[in-house]
Amino acid sequence: MQTVRAKKSLGQHFLKDLGVARRIAETAPAGRVLEIGPGMGVLTQFLLSNPQIQLTAIELDTESVQYLHEWYPELNLIEGDFLKLDLNKLYPDGDFCVIGNYPYNISSQIFFKVLDYKDRIPVCSGMIQKEVAERLASGPGNKSYGILSVLLQAWYDIEYLETVPEHVFAPPPKVKSAVVRMKRNTRTSLGCDEQLFKSVVKAAFNQRRKQMRNSLQQLAGKNNPILEENIFTRRPEQLSVEEFIHLTNLLQSCQN
Ligand code: SAH
Repeated sequence: MQTVRAKKSLGQHFLKDLGVARRIAETAPAGRVLEIGPGMGVLTQFLLSNPQIQLTAIELDTESVQYLHEWYPELNLIEGDFLKLDLNKLYPDGDFCVIGNYPYNISSQIFFKVLDYKDRIPVCSGMIQKEVAERLASGPGNKSYGILSVLLQAWYDIEYLETVPEHVFAPPPKVKSAVVRMKRNTRTSLGCDEQLFKSVVKAAFNQRRKQMRNSLQQLAGKNNPILEENIFTRRPEQLSVEEFIHLTNLLQSCQN
């Protein structure tokens, strides 16, 4: 069978470097693993050969699905869109890990979905755009620190494992890539309202150059005296996860 023709709309850049593929596969712990976007299976082959792993893969591209059926008939493969996949149906209970050389065009959405299942996903790892990897892993004061950094770091320890150059993909993407691993930390609750925490982080970073006094005015209610507190004179990029939690509790107290 012919190889799969790369489609831009699906973010298809097939990895050619088997060393990188093997190292990504090695980030998966034993147990149930869901691979997103296996493509032609470069990563899949290493996951399948690990007897400790129970692998399921989901692929949106029909042509890739046919290819995978032919080359990896033993693979438990779902044809469909990960973003629409009902994970509670696939895994009614228990933990599972998520892995992939991800479609870069939807990587943020993938991570927001992982966050929705954070208590059942102990590890999420794989390859993404380098810029996004830096954002996930960076801390306060760093210019790439943003919404996903705070929301993910609240629940996961994030490791930047390696940078991967453009030329090991076919076709080469326009950007560099990086391998990351996120491991669930020990936090069981935020100590504040989770929904409000998300809204606060999003509202603050939507105007990242402004003091939070301005960007959080809507959430607090205009002229709310709480906005006089010192923390509101700061910019979101300076705040740690703990400080965002504190901020959320301040806003919560005036919403009651
Ligand atoms: N893992 C392969 C392919 C990476 S390219 C490799 O390393 O070579 C990204 C893959 O994700 C493509 O195969 C693409 O078809 C698939 N994909 C894109 N959007 C998807 C979605 N919403 N759900 C599942 N797979 C998707």
